[in-house]
Amino acid sequence: MNKNNPEAAPEAVKSNFIHQEIDKDLSENKNGGAVLTRFPPEPNGYLHIGHAKSICLNFSLAQKYGGGCNLRFDDTNPVKEDVEYVDSIQEDVKWLGFTWEGEPKYTSDYFDQLYSWAVKLIKNGKAYVDDQSAEVIASQKGTPTTPGTESPYRNRSVEENLDLFERMKAGEFAAGEKVLRAKIDMASPNMHMRDPLMYRIIHQAHHRTGDKWCIYPMYDYAHGQGDFIEGITHSICTLEFEVHRPLYNWFIDQIVEGERTPEVRGRQIEFARLNLNYTVMSKRKLLELVQKGIVSGWDDPRMPTVSGLRRRGYTPESIRNFADKVGVAKRDGIIDVALLESCIREDLNKRVARVNAVVDPLKMIITNYPEDKEEWVELINNPEDESMGSRQLPFSREVYIERDDFMEDAPKKFFRLTVGKELRLKGAYAITCTGFKKNEDGVIEEIYATYDPETKSGATTVTRKIKGVIHWVSAKHAVDAEVRMYDRLYNHEAPAAQKDADHLDFINPDSLTVIAAKVEPSLKDAKVLDKFQFQRVGYFCVDKDSTSDKLIFNRTVALKDSWAKKK
Ligand code: ATP
Ligand code: MG
Repeated sequence: MNKNNPEAAPEAVKSNFIHQEIDKDLSENKNGGAVLTRFPPEPNGYLHIGHAKSICLNFSLAQKYGGGCNLRFDDTNPVKEDVEYVDSIQEDVKWLGFTWEGEPKYTSDYFDQLYSWAVKLIKNGKAYVDDQSAEVIASQKGTPTTPGTESPYRNRSVEENLDLFERMKAGEFAAGEKVLRAKIDMASPNMHMRDPLMYRIIHQAHHRTGDKWCIYPMYDYAHGQGDFIEGITHSICTLEFEVHRPLYNWFIDQIVEGERTPEVRGRQIEFARLNLNYTVMSKRKLLELVQKGIVSGWDDPRMPTVSGLRRRGYTPESIRNFADKVGVAKRDGIIDVALLESCIREDLNKRVARVNAVVDPLKMIITNYPEDKEEWVELINNPEDESMGSRQLPFSREVYIERDDFMEDAPKKFFRLTVGKELRLKGAYAITCTGFKKNEDGVIEEIYATYDPETKSGATTVTRKIKGVIHWVSAKHAVDAEVRMYDRLYNHEAPAAQKDADHLDFINPDSLTVIAAKVEPSLKDAKVLDKFQFQRVGYFCVDKDSTSDKLIFNRTVALKDSWAKKK
């Protein structure tokens, strides 16, 4: 029963401590040998790279053990949730290459069941209605070393609790007037066991259940039961939920009390959440960036969201490979974003065509090349993969080269162009620079060169060594393109972890630079999301704003691999 794309499984999934735990369960034939995991997002934002890590982990466990993985929307808070998010989450999971078991599940589908279990808890003296405000309840929590204070409503009779809970459901009370709490232990060393909230009143329509409910279960009351209802065998979650585990187990113990033994009683296993430097990874903060207009939307290519990475030019393979390289840890750490960049570079290097595009154009006039002559030269598409073939490129008297490939006063070790120096225009001829012209402001406007007709690429008669190769595009054939160069969104390594400072204090004002480039004519018909290597510059991807009148590219990543160097 493995419907997931086999390609999605990293070739050799490294063994990790979660595998060891599952292997142990299987060897004891727990849950009849079944493995069912789930990815349980709250639909209150778009997925980010941390979620992608969790998705890769859960779905690859299902693949490894021939089990399945559910997609469940933990939609318990109608105030923050929206169908836009539900849709984007499904799109992102599919795009990453995974298929969930059956239909997507929703915690809201379990509201009736959760309600009747709450009634069961009340009947068994394990839950009570509290009339105190959230602030008062919080003030009675105590500290980890001092016990909390019991609510004056804690010992209400079962009848009164049943009546009040029913009336909460019927809409008789305003938000905040009453809550349902579990009756556990106000002196427990685990703060989560000190009579946690189970239900609160929210008079707001839900994107799925409409006006049916005005009481909504707390995440902690709903989450573990969602897993239980679905028969999830291994609930993988991040470390901060380790301390919630006793509470989740307590709720299930109350629910199964007096019932027949359930077929599946799963367990929770925690792993360290993914943190990346130079970004933030909380939906609340990402939403702030969107709402304050700091980025253009959830899919802004600078966002660490799955949709942002996709628009930026990342491939599902590169993200899965990244998740695999990061591995599964038991302790929180911070991963260098350069590792993510190296994964996309590695993938695109093999897969995409290398094209000529000049991102900072400087015109070069080849004075001894006939004015109206045009010819075609051949360039191979990717030296890493011959099967990708080659293409023809027009060459003419005027070409654009990169401004920084020319220097007026070049130091000895400058391997590019300066007056008197010869080098090769890639795939075409060797040229020698003969001079340049400056405008009134002293900026070089154009440069002049002569070419040697004997040196056409592939010619075997040239015996002298031509050092240095640069890329170019024929001026008259070049296509104009807008190129969006991205830098890090934050100029601080850990923008969300600074005392007395907000992540917004560290926004990099230069995270987006828009430039006018000249690209080879074969790119004219490139489609949205098509990816290329601009020779010697970096990897680029056609943006969704691109039209047949206006080509727009996003820079996915620069060519230089700073990560590889570090190793
Ligand atoms: P955020 O803190 O960004 O709002 P969240 O944990 O509230 O995220 P959920 O929708 O509850 O978001 O997350 C769904 C699943 O994704 C959970 O199982 C959660 O553990 C996992 N997850 C969220 N963030 C990360 C992360 N940074 N690394 C690994 N897993 C993550
Ligand atoms: Mg959460």
